[in-house]
Amino acid sequence: MTAPQESSITLSLFDLYKIGPGPSSSHTIGPMRAGGHFRRALAALSAEELLRGERIEVRLYGSLSATGKGHGTDRAVLAGLLGFDPEQCDARVLEDLAEEPNKAHRIAAGNREFLFALNDIRYEGTIHNFPWNNTLVIALRGGWSTSEEAETILRHVYYSVGGGFLVVEGEEDPPRPAPPHPYRTMEEFRSLLQRTNRSLPDLLLDNERALTGIDTAEVHRRLDRILDVMEAAVDLGLRTEGVLPGSIGLRRKAPLLFRRSYSLQSDPNHAVVLLNAYALAAAEENAAGHVVVTAPTLGSAGVLPAVAILMARQGRVPRELLREGLLAAAVVGFLVKTGASISGAEVGCQGEVGTASAMAAAFLAHVNGYPVSVLENAAEIALEHHLGMTCDPVGGYVQIPCIERNAMGAVKAYNAYLLASCGDPSAQKVQLDQVIRALAETGRDMSSRYKETAEGGLAVCFPQC
Ligand code: SF4
Repeated sequence: MTAPQESSITLSLFDLYKIGPGPSSSHTIGPMRAGGHFRRALAALSAEELLRGERIEVRLYGSLSATGKGHGTDRAVLAGLLGFDPEQCDARVLEDLAEEPNKAHRIAAGNREFLFALNDIRYEGTIHNFPWNNTLVIALRGGWSTSEEAETILRHVYYSVGGGFLVVEGEEDPPRPAPPHPYRTMEEFRSLLQRTNRSLPDLLLDNERALTGIDTAEVHRRLDRILDVMEAAVDLGLRTEGVLPGSIGLRRKAPLLFRRSYSLQSDPNHAVVLLNAYALAAAEENAAGHVVVTAPTLGSAGVLPAVAILMARQGRVPRELLREGLLAAAVVGFLVKTGASISGAEVGCQGEVGTASAMAAAFLAHVNGYPVSVLENAAEIALEHHLGMTCDPVGGYVQIPCIERNAMGAVKAYNAYLLASCGDPSAQKVQLDQVIRALAETGRDMSSRYKETAEGGLAVCFPQC
């Protein structure tokens, strides 16, 4: 679990919002990035080292081992080894890889080629001594023997720490410049706004420019792309019927709800039905392995798009304000990521759908014109009412309970915003920083059976697939 934040937050907006194929950022984006890193490391070996190599070995540990097949980790690592990048990798590439698990693919490095098939991946179980639950080890070995005695020419240990973030053991990310407006907690963020007299969007943009070196126009272009991908996922999900991949045989529901909304135009349920339909649509697209946005993870990728599309279409919120909403939501995502965790494998679903719901509540408060005190309270209420929520995906698929959980997270976000925007914001008793600490504590005490391993909860009480 992430240690409580000691230095200021240096995350970029685009560390948090990443485009990639579903169904789980820690199981697809992180492992694909690991495969890509290993491919580059392989290419940097000398001709003599490459000559000694015989085979590539991939071992999965923790929930990558337990639910890696259902979550598509095998094909994601292979796609990374073949040179695909999550943002550019078409879902059909991954589907094709999955269809031929015994096919030996050629991984080129220098003047060598190494053959690797999906079925070469080794699933090492959930008990291990690595410091992070979701661990992959990729190595170039010198012999065909699977014994540990075969020479290891190159070996990297990767930790997929949630939301597509990847830690490479022994490697530090290049240091980023200090942000002009440093903060570690919501309390510090609030006082920064007061001290600098900057608005929330201006303050976030100042930091983003300093951290990444990109200008405001480019930040806006990238935020627009994030919004476009969210919208495309929702629209595709709303019109795609059928059964999701995997042995559960779960039928998509978003189109059904969307059609129902036509007959409810003047009914009080209209907006709620649409909010549910939008969340299900993006979550079903994610479950199908299609491209969505980590917000903050892929498992929770339906929540923020649902409120964003509702505000854009039913609330007529203009694009500039939607971008600002993403900035407001990012503050909450940054604080949970650095103060606790956004990984289901570390803290359960409270860190995924819980965080997404808190981000969406902050988004709603901002785009509806409320000050940061209301934004904070909305996020706090949404997160508080996800505390303790376990991760127990049935059959290892990001479908039950995940898809409906996104719809519930979106509705809770809306309710949290409504509760926070009524009355005096200073009367709120619980602070966002406190509930983030509670999330970290709760996650620490949670049994590993409820952390994306499919070994507890619904995954064992509903074991029919
Ligand atoms: S239960 Fe939640 S955390 Fe677990 S896989 Fe599903 S969406 Fe992700």
